[in-house]
Amino acid sequence: MAIAYFRCMMCGHEWEDEVERGDDVERTCTKCRSNSIRQFKSKPEPKE
Ligand SMILES: [Zn+2]
Repeated sequence: MAIAYFRCMMCGHEWEDEVERGDDVERTCTKCRSNSIRQFKSKPEPKE
């Protein structure tokens, strides 16, 4: 189990979640339920 970081491209919400290694499950934003999200293996730099 690892922690992955997600950022919603629609509303900018960022969150982290546990993922299985190799897990490629499609996730949705926990806030606006958009599926336009990006996944990061480490904490993304804050937006300027
Ligand atoms: Zn969102």
